[in-house]
Formats: sequence, C-alpha cells, structure tokens
Amino acid sequence: MNEADSEKMAGILCAAGYRLSGSPEEADVILINTCSIRDKAEQKAFSLAGRFAQLKRRRPGTLLVLTGCVAQKLGAGVLERAPAIDAVVGTGRMAELPELLERVRASGRPEVDTGEAASEEHPAAPVRSSRIKAWTNVMFGCDNHCAYCVVPSVRGRERSRKPVEVLAEVTALGRAGFREVTLLGQNVNSYGRGLVPAADFAGLLRAIDAASGVPRVRFTTSHPKDFSTGLMRAVRDLPSVCEAVHLPLQAGADAVLERMNRGYTLERYRRIIGELRETVPGVAVTTDIIVGFPGERTADFDDTLQALAEFRFDAIFSFRFSPREGTPACTMSGAVPEEESARRLIVLQALQREITEAGNAALIGREVEVLVEGPSRRDPGAWKGRTRTNRIVNFPAGDRPIVAGDFVNVRITGAGFLSLEGRVAAGDLVAARCG
Ligand code: SAM
Ligand code: SF4
Repeated sequence: MNEADSEKMAGILCAAGYRLSGSPEEADVILINTCSIRDKAEQKAFSLAGRFAQLKRRRPGTLLVLTGCVAQKLGAGVLERAPAIDAVVGTGRMAELPELLERVRASGRPEVDTGEAASEEHPAAPVRSSRIKAWTNVMFGCDNHCAYCVVPSVRGRERSRKPVEVLAEVTALGRAGFREVTLLGQNVNSYGRGLVPAADFAGLLRAIDAASGVPRVRFTTSHPKDFSTGLMRAVRDLPSVCEAVHLPLQAGADAVLERMNRGYTLERYRRIIGELRETVPGVAVTTDIIVGFPGERTADFDDTLQALAEFRFDAIFSFRFSPREGTPACTMSGAVPEEESARRLIVLQALQREITEAGNAALIGREVEVLVEGPSRRDPGAWKGRTRTNRIVNFPAGDRPIVAGDFVNVRITGAGFLSLEGRVAAGDLVAARCG
C-alpha cells in the first residue's frame, strides 16, 4: 500500500515538473512516506528524518516532507519531534503536494495538511518502480475495527473505486506490457460495498481477467470473515488470477480473536481455509500472526502454535503486539511482558520455518511457471522469478535468450526457507514474452 502511494506521489510531482533524483544527497525535495502500523515503523521514520535533517544542514534549501500514516496520525505533532520537517502531508492530500511545496518555498514556514481527499482518482500516472509488476488500489480505508489496528483512523472509512476505473487502469497496464498486477485493499473481499450499481470482488476479477490482457493478477488482503465461495471459484476458474491467498488469522485462540474483534472463530477460519483448499487445489495460503496480544495466556499461544501446525501455511508474517495510541487494545488489561512476547515470536517463527521448508521441499522435482523478474541477487549468472504461488525461484541463466518479463517453465531442483532453486525445463523454454 505504501509503495503504491510512493509511486503515486512520484507521479504527481513529476507531472508538476519534478524529476526523480538518483540519491537523497542530490534531491531538492525528500519525501519520507511513513507507516504507523507498529511503533517500530514510526521510530524508523523519525530516525530517517533525523538523518535527512543533517543532510539539510549541509544543503540548505532542501525540503523535507513527511507523508503517509504517521503524518496523518500526528499532524503538527510531527514538527515537535522532527523540527527540520518542512511539510506534513496526510494520506488524503497527496494530490496537493506540489501546491504545498510552493507554499513552503514562498513563506519559508512549515505546512501541515491532513485534510480529507477531494478524490481518489489522480490524473497523474504513477511512476512505477518496475516495468513488469504493478500495484493498483481497488479500495481505500477500512470499516473493520480490529482492536489493535490504527488503519481505520489513519486511512478513513472504506471506499471502493468504481469497477470501470480499476478496469481502465489495469487494462492500460496490460497494454503497456506489465505482466503482473496486484490489486490492493485492506479487505478486498468487501470490495464494492456501497457502490451503485452494485459490484463485488469476484465480478471485478472476472472483468479484469476477460479484458485487461494482464497475464497474472494477485490481490491482497483478504479478511476471513468476508471470504465468499464465489471468490474461491474465481481464483479457481480465472486463468490470470494466481493461486495465492493471504488470509490473516492473527491468533489461534477464540478468546484472543474475540478480544481482537476479528469477527470469526478458529472453527470458522478452519471451514474457510478447508473450502478454499478444496476449491483451488495447490493454492498457497499465507497469514499474519500477532503474538503477545493483551490477555494472551500461554495456553492461548499454544493454540496459535497448534493452528500453525494444523493449517500448514506456506508462509507467515508474524509480529509482536505493538500498542498503538487511540486503539482499544492499547488500554486493555493483561499486558504480556516484552521478554515473553519476544520468546513467543521466536518459538512461532521456528515452527513456521520447519513448515515452510517442508512445503518448499515438497516442490522438488515439480515443474512450475516462473515470471522472470531480473538477475538473481545471490548469483549474477542466474535469474530470479516467482511462481504463481509467489515463491521465489533462482535458476541459472545458461545460454538461453531470457529477459525480465518472460514466463519460463522451471523444474525445481532445490529448496530452502526463502527460495527455491531450479533449471529451465528441457524442451519447453519461454512460454510468453513481455511486449
Ligand atoms: N487489513 C489486513 C487484515 O486485516 O488482515 C492487514 C492490515 S495490517 C497493515 C497488516 C498486519 O499488521 C495485520 O494483519 C496485523 O497482523 C499486523 N498489525 C496490525 N496492527 C498491529 C499492532 N498494533 N501490533 C502488531 N501487529 C499489528
Ligand atoms: Fe486493520 Fe483489521 Fe482493517 Fe485489517 S481489517 S486494516 S487489521 S482494522
């Protein structure tokens, strides 16, 4: 989501006559686009602001701008913590950036704007960091109220873009030769709520599959409470839609799920993941887990471990609970001591490592379709790409005429925790080429 916003802001500024600089040292304007989901992300933003403040002292006239969720959350409070910042721009005010910068230049005083968005549709095209993969928001904000989460307060109420706007953007990406588009929303399963005429996410996927010309479509994030059978069938039936679903569980104990206000029980989650795997054979399922939520007892954490062992996710993102001011969880009783939540995270990640490694090892000998993203970082003589299930595969370049954006059939020869190794499958080399 933040990467997509950064690309949008680059587009808005480029349309106003700016150019991307090669490094912060050469820039006239430095944007720090921030995340406030956990305290660590917020700390990182301020330490970056401190670093750029030193740079600004060496190059007076450089403008420092803080954007994104921390800007939205703290507003003018940002200037107290980071006085070198020249503008604080909230999540709805990206389109106003060029104007705000002009005002700062004219007055020499900092500007703070955290107002509401006039429109989510920006005339300026994003400056995309890849020519192969792109992001597209299908919706903004969130109407759920998970007890730990700042997103609803910094991103506002849920708003879906009209199908026609999304389809136009994705089709333009298809025409421009993009090979993969990820559709973004905090809860894509509730896409279309409130739109007139009515629309739903499965219908949007069908329209994109039929008309966009983009060979691979992904989406994130799915909320378990809104996952429909229709969506599962869309993933099964639509050739462009990748068989990979991110379905955050958060915790394995019903008491914790209830305190989190997640809106489902473990049994309901079990039914959803069961139906998904039955409907879409081979689907990869990934999840998010929070450990150390207030009131999480050792027995509750054991239930989470048990859930991991049962569901055997392909991968997980796991976090220690981070209290966020203004959220109900911040003032809940039963705080778990930091050392204990750190211990739980280590135990959880060790278990998942075994599960992920076993899942990856089970692919050895199989042939998979890989979208080539570029040279492998580990080995300059090799290529790196991703399977439809979003696993990273490295394979030797050899003397094949492969370029980034190609689809290549690769036979898996080795597997680790984070990536797979393979060789181009004999006889069948390049399935399609980027236009
Ligand atoms: N909308 C998505 C959903 O409901 O699953 C995810 C949104 S959030 C940006 C990504 C993940 O951050 C969440 O799934 C949760 O695991 C984690 N997260 C959010 N707030 C957190 C907090 N206060 N402490 C620790 N982890 C948190
Ligand atoms: Fe946050 Fe819950 Fe909304 Fe996800 S669904 S963004 S975790 S409030």
